[in-house]
Amino acid sequence: MLDQLDVPLSTDCGGDCWGCVGEMQADLGDLESLKKVREEFAQGLRPDWIDPATNG
Ligand SMILES: [Zn+2]
Repeated sequence: MLDQLDVPLSTDCGGDCWGCVGEMQADLGDLESLKKVREEFAQGLRPDWIDPATNG
């Protein structure tokens, strides 16, 4: 399933990739992004991500 991601998740991209933008949009309440980010989190791709729904 991982090869469905066309952009590698990177922490050193300048904030321009899905790895960064997706989390940003999810944090801002974008439901589509939140859904994808949650799926990636469940796959272990975002070990440092905190689901906003569980954060307070
Ligand atoms: Zn990035």
